[in-house]
Amino acid sequence: MAEKITAYRFDCLDQTLNQLNREDCAIIAGGTDVMVLHKSRRGVPPKITKPIVFIDHLSELKQMYQHHNDLHIGACCTYSELLEHPLIPFALKNAIKTIAAPAIRNRGTLGGNICNASPAGDTLPLLYVYNAKLLLRSVHGDRIVAINDFIQGPRRIQRLPHEIVTEIILPSVLEEDAHVVFEKVGNRNADAIAKVSFAGLIRVKKERIDDVRFAFGVVGPTMVRSYDIEKMLLGKLVPLTVTDIDQAVAAFDKIIHPIDDHRSTAVYRKTVALKLLRHFLSLQQFQAN
Ligand SMILES: Cc1cc2nc3c(=O)[nH]c(=O)nc-3n(C[C@H](O)[C@H](O)[C@H](O)COP(=O)(O)OP(=O)(O)OC[C@H]3O[C@@H](n4cnc5c(N)ncnc54)[C@H](O)[C@@H]3O)c2cc1C
Repeated sequence: MAEKITAYRFDCLDQTLNQLNREDCAIIAGGTDVMVLHKSRRGVPPKITKPIVFIDHLSELKQMYQHHNDLHIGACCTYSELLEHPLIPFALKNAIKTIAAPAIRNRGTLGGNICNASPAGDTLPLLYVYNAKLLLRSVHGDRIVAINDFIQGPRRIQRLPHEIVTEIILPSVLEEDAHVVFEKVGNRNADAIAKVSFAGLIRVKKERIDDVRFAFGVVGPTMVRSYDIEKMLLGKLVPLTVTDIDQAVAAFDKIIHPIDDHRSTAVYRKTVALKLLRHFLSLQQFQAN
């Protein structure tokens, strides 16, 4: 006989947080990562050793709103909801369109992609270049953590057992003066897990680079971003010279260390990652999008 699983589904966030404070539970949002991770053979319930607490229905976790030029996204907004929302930036929508197929996009959440902390999580490169911050809530109060501090490795995050990620905050993302791109390389255009991914953000003022950020996915245990390399490009005239581009590519060449796995090889990943960077930096114009 199948083992019984205790599952909670409270009406509001406060009750959910109280339960998490009383008991160590497995959080399920859309369940699209959790169910794969714990899958059993057909007809047998997933092996989840802790009680489950569902959060996908909580209205407190499904808000999207603008505060000054910052965008606040509820952690349990699904990809389909994000795709329909007018505040979601164009580049983030582009990334979301590459995720799985509509059925998964109807269930999968942005908070789940972050907390699953996969190097192939498709929203992560962009969230790194947007300098995303996460609002974590517990019965003891709130705290805000930068995404690069929160994600510590594959499936390793800086979350305490009684905390829930409630919001993803994208600071100044609604200023609309940056050129932002997301590129994903997989086996096919849709419904594929990334072999390599890349996000780039650039702001040009008076023909010089005022702000530039890059993040690579699937070429290390977490997203690869380098503030030192970004600083090298600040103040440079655009279009960039071949020397500027070569220097940035060479610098990333030294810090990108992908692995071989069933989806790709380290050599392929590194080659493609550097080509994506070179292509981005070689653009003649960076128009705000
Ligand atoms: C067929 C298929 C295709 C897929 N394709 C892609 C793809 O192309 N690209 C991609 O990036 N991903 C893909 N995924 C993975 C998955 O859909 C995404 O990572 C999704 O965003 C996970 O969200 P979720 O709400 O389903 O997370 P869940 O499975 O509910 O949770 C994932 C983890 O995050 C924790 N968690 C979730 N929300 C919170 C929160 N608010 N606070 C604290 N902890 C939380 C859970 O406890 C769990 O550990 C695919 C999955 C499947 C099954």
